[in-house]
Amino acid sequence: MTASACPACGSQRLHTIYELESIPVQSCILVPTEEEALNFPRGDITLSFCSSCGFIFNSVFDVDNVDYAAATEESQHFSGTFNRFAERLISDIAHRYDLSGRTTLEIGCGKGDFLKALVATTGTYGIGVDPGFIPERLATNGSNNIKFMREYFKSDRIEFDPDFVVCRHTLEHIPAVWDFVSDIDRTLKNQPRAVFFETPDTRRLLVQGAFWDIYYEHCSYFTLGSHARLFRRAGMNVTDLYLEYGGQYIVQYAMSHATGPQLRQECDLDEVRHLVREFPKRVADSRDYWTKFVRDRAAVGKRVVLWGGGSKATSFITSNRLEDDIADVVDINPFKQGKFIPGTARQVHAPEALCDRPPDTVIAMNAMYAKEIADHLAQLGMKPELVALP
Ligand SMILES: [Zn+2]
Repeated sequence: MTASACPACGSQRLHTIYELESIPVQSCILVPTEEEALNFPRGDITLSFCSSCGFIFNSVFDVDNVDYAAATEESQHFSGTFNRFAERLISDIAHRYDLSGRTTLEIGCGKGDFLKALVATTGTYGIGVDPGFIPERLATNGSNNIKFMREYFKSDRIEFDPDFVVCRHTLEHIPAVWDFVSDIDRTLKNQPRAVFFETPDTRRLLVQGAFWDIYYEHCSYFTLGSHARLFRRAGMNVTDLYLEYGGQYIVQYAMSHATGPQLRQECDLDEVRHLVREFPKRVADSRDYWTKFVRDRAAVGKRVVLWGGGSKATSFITSNRLEDDIADVVDINPFKQGKFIPGTARQVHAPEALCDRPPDTVIAMNAMYAKEIADHLAQLGMKPELVALP
């Protein structure tokens, strides 16, 4: 079924800007066997742009296709770069709010690493909600100031009044975004409470034609402006809004049940409309460039390896049907190693496996990790051509 109204603002001024057929419906998940990977369920993407509020979403998304209760491997906590970023965020939150003895609700807490660190640093009492939470993965040292609920967030399931809400890398997975933010507001019972959101930024995706950042689970795509407009429409005041992590993530602080002046960086609608007009050509050029990059090397017997076995790799391979041209996929996360990328017969290996079959070219799936990857390759005694997705 195709959505006929914008889930963020209700407008019907929608335009299709990108279509992709038959791609795996989950790309963060890795599966144990090649057969399961090849038979993985598939779905379609039709990205629609709302010219009223700037929101972009998959208008043919079917939430029943995605099972977040199945073990997903979204945790980036094996990377030193990502850990330093999380530490900086926690220190910023601790600097802004006195959370000691108060209650923090984290929606979409994943494996709970961030909440655990926030509790340790600020002395807050933490409640994490996530259908994919795996208790065995997190040692809580017998602490009773942190609790997890393995389920989807619904305000009527929260039996306490949170003083602070954290939600990182979750909103992009939610189709009914306005309903979701309004439900958070209900949890806060019409009280002014601080709300922290971190969500991938889509402006850079539009500028770069970054097809590898478009995948099935990501049904909702925001820029700084459309992100802020959604929260203002739900009765919250956006108090701070900026890009982080090499410009990849939107960081937004807001206050529920409050109003205030619009921030300068929210006024991006004209620019986004312009970028959206150029996007179909830009994404087609980008797909052609990377397909040629990989196939030219594979054709002369060079081994092209993807570093990073997450959703970007799944999208990079399956969007362009590159499964036979990529020699290997490696990842430092031990929970990914040995498993298969959905929709392909490609197995993820530890970087050390490259010692037996050295790569000629390594494509880093995230430029933020390029230095880390170069160091790792040097430790393994290798110096292949190293490029990164921008
Ligand atoms: Zn809209």
